[in-house]
Amino acid sequence: MDAFLSSVSDIAVIRLADVLIKNGFIVTMGEDKKIIPKGDVHIVDDKIAEIGDGLKVPDPEYIVDAEHHLVMPGFVNAHSHLQQYFRGVYELMGDFFETNLPLEGYRRPEQMETLGLASCAEFIYGGNTTSMLIYTYPDGYAKSVAKAGNRCMIAGDIEHVDLEKLKHNEFVYLSDKRDAAVKRAKNLYHNWHGKAEGRITTLMCPKAPDMALPDVYEECKEFANEHDLRMTTHLSQSQREYRQVKKQYGKTPPQHLYDMGMMDDKLSGAHLTYATAKDIGLVQKTGMAILHCHSVESPLIDWLDMGIPVGLGTDDYFHDMLDLVRKQRNGVMTRAGKTGGYLGMINNSRASARPSFYDMLELATIGGAKALGIDSEVGSLEVGKKADVITIDLMNPYLIPTRDPVTSVFLYGTPGDIDNVICDGKFLKKDGWLTTINTHKALLDAQKTCDQIIDKFFDEHPDQKKVWEKMSQTE
Ligand SMILES: [Zn+2]
Repeated sequence: MDAFLSSVSDIAVIRLADVLIKNGFIVTMGEDKKIIPKGDVHIVDDKIAEIGDGLKVPDPEYIVDAEHHLVMPGFVNAHSHLQQYFRGVYELMGDFFETNLPLEGYRRPEQMETLGLASCAEFIYGGNTTSMLIYTYPDGYAKSVAKAGNRCMIAGDIEHVDLEKLKHNEFVYLSDKRDAAVKRAKNLYHNWHGKAEGRITTLMCPKAPDMALPDVYEECKEFANEHDLRMTTHLSQSQREYRQVKKQYGKTPPQHLYDMGMMDDKLSGAHLTYATAKDIGLVQKTGMAILHCHSVESPLIDWLDMGIPVGLGTDDYFHDMLDLVRKQRNGVMTRAGKTGGYLGMINNSRASARPSFYDMLELATIGGAKALGIDSEVGSLEVGKKADVITIDLMNPYLIPTRDPVTSVFLYGTPGDIDNVICDGKFLKKDGWLTTINTHKALLDAQKTCDQIIDKFFDEHPDQKKVWEKMSQTE
């Protein structure tokens, strides 16, 4: 125990060789979707060695008493960015061109490790053992993942639009900006792919079909093929993108990628909000995955019914997968209510056209892993897989009594209820405390960095400062 306490200040990752999680309500999310109402998980080094009922482990190094706990795979957050430093600003002001984009211009690559560590703290605190993260300056972020102990697929996003011109809806593509972003993305691979005990992997991310020209997609694809990497992109995210791609290429964004030969089972696309039925048919045909984020209007049930791999991603200023699942399911239920349900789901012998929390949990774990092509390693509790496990304390007045722990946790649970987070066999959160990050220091350092970024932005944009003061009522 002392080792964990001292590690808080030392920022050292502690791995116990042999851990037994006992008497938990285990939701495996494996092929057979097995649930063990009172079971054990035995972890040896970085792997799951055994799962069962009343396991006999002679002398485990550490025992987690998981009675009245939900034990499940760590979340796979399939699409996210580092944008927490906007908190308390952008939500109040809301102008993409006047606030969001210029503020982004005030970040510096050297600040990313500090912001990254606070971001990793949030991922770990909320049980995201794996995150896919897209960011402009990915190198500093990778350093923070190496320290924090979580698992991360990282991409440097590549866009090369003149943002000043974009304000006036004019698309001008800059070659210097393109080359710098491609270089950062490739360097990320060379510096970090497979590093930190294999917890960090990289992928290629042309930002979106309106933000990157076809030659960027082609160069990324060539690099990805050469190094056996996956690709990801934003796709059919906004009306602006839809209109621009239609105008420039005479087709929808998915059709545009399909015709370029980009769509295959190594590509994942975030959103697909403004997609036609034909577009979704192309996605299905090619095996491409959809990363579903905050749109509650998307036809999630149709996608699942068509067998399209779907992962869930927070893609926001906070990264609570419980909250995301809650919102998504409510959205799907509203939609199902509106349309009277989906025949396909009924034909598939589902009891209802509305996904259960088990269905949503599947998307938030093994579904995300499949969408990102990492399901042979993570996403479910199965013997031989990586030990990425979380426990959720049910002994709270808002969770117990319940007939079904999963429903309770997803309707009413919070990240604070997640008391243990194990990634790659190591405790990253133990009994409610982060073990690899000095949380107090990490958050204060990040706060200081955010203040520097925002103060400078406000100094140089007094009009924006005024708007913020008005909206936050600090005037
Ligand atoms: Zn995004």
